Amino acid sequence: MNEKPYHDQKRQCRHCLICNTELGPHIRGRDSDDVCNDSQCQHLHRQRLTMAPEVYKPHLAFQQKLIRTRKLREQTRQEHIKAVQNREREQNLRIANAMVEHNPELAKNSIEVVMIPTGLSQMIKLDADRIDAYRSHLQQVASEAMDADNAASIPVDQHVLAKERLLQQEAYLSKHPHVRDRSDQLCTLCRGGCCASGANHGFISSITIRRQLDAEPQLSGEQIVQRYLGYLQDESINGACINQTDRGCALPRELRSDVCNVYFCDELKSHQAALETDSADLPTIVIQRTNHNWNRFETPHINPVEKVFLIKEGQLIELEQNTPD
Ligand code: SF4
Ligand code: SF4
Ligand SMILES: [Zn+2]
Repeated sequence: MNEKPYHDQKRQCRHCLICNTELGPHIRGRDSDDVCNDSQCQHLHRQRLTMAPEVYKPHLAFQQKLIRTRKLREQTRQEHIKAVQNREREQNLRIANAMVEHNPELAKNSIEVVMIPTGLSQMIKLDADRIDAYRSHLQQVASEAMDADNAASIPVDQHVLAKERLLQQEAYLSKHPHVRDRSDQLCTLCRGGCCASGANHGFISSITIRRQLDAEPQLSGEQIVQRYLGYLQDESINGACINQTDRGCALPRELRSDVCNVYFCDELKSHQAALETDSADLPTIVIQRTNHNWNRFETPHINPVEKVFLIKEGQLIELEQNTPD
């Protein structure tokens, strides 16, 4: 009987022994090819080497079920995200097409469409628990900052990396001032949809504090904590960052974290890229939806349109809403 050629055996498509995800072609002799890259799958598969078979078997069955359930949940979530993105994109296009039909002069030019979220807006009195939580956070990061010799000695984390990105971004926006102006304009319309995740920390980290200590070494950690607390307002936006108010962030830009100063949502970043290659006069339809930046995919269907604007020849015009389904 003829055996399959070796290269055919090698290239058989296989599935992870734990979670059943399809794997790439098998390379003979490599044990790790039996499971996917998921660290839980790899760990569970390795445990067969150290556990007695009669103990491993029920353990494998139980853990395998948990992993498969988790993966199914993740897959369902990813499919939901794609579906919302597609439906919103299609609706945005229908809105843009309807706009061009009613304003034929727009059709002569290429037109850009950008979608933005809406920041939360309800102001409520700041309660003592929130202030206490913010104070504890500030004291913790101030103590870490005091323990460091200087900003350069703080271990690299997302806050340290944000500084690098901020420098690059500032250089980029200085080179493209129309991109900066448009970004400011859209963030003002949005009213801080991304600040909904600032909670009681405002992303203030040890590096934010250490830089101030490096610039003003006479200050104590407690004085810096009091400086931040001094910017709190009596009221802030319900469900958002403790520093967010109906007039924007209560902190001056230089006291904010680099994470805050560097952040642009994905939709705005795509718009910036489109603007970079086009003139500042590119007519733009702005579709503002009711979600904030972090709950976009919590909707079962699609996020309703809140407002539609046209930016043309430097003018921002709010358009009557007649959203096609
Ligand atoms: S970056 Fe995006 S979410 Fe944040 S304020 Fe600007 S438009 Fe809104
Ligand atoms: S500190 Fe200011 S910019 Fe940062 S999340 Fe809070 S309100 Fe937004
Ligand atoms: Zn797996």
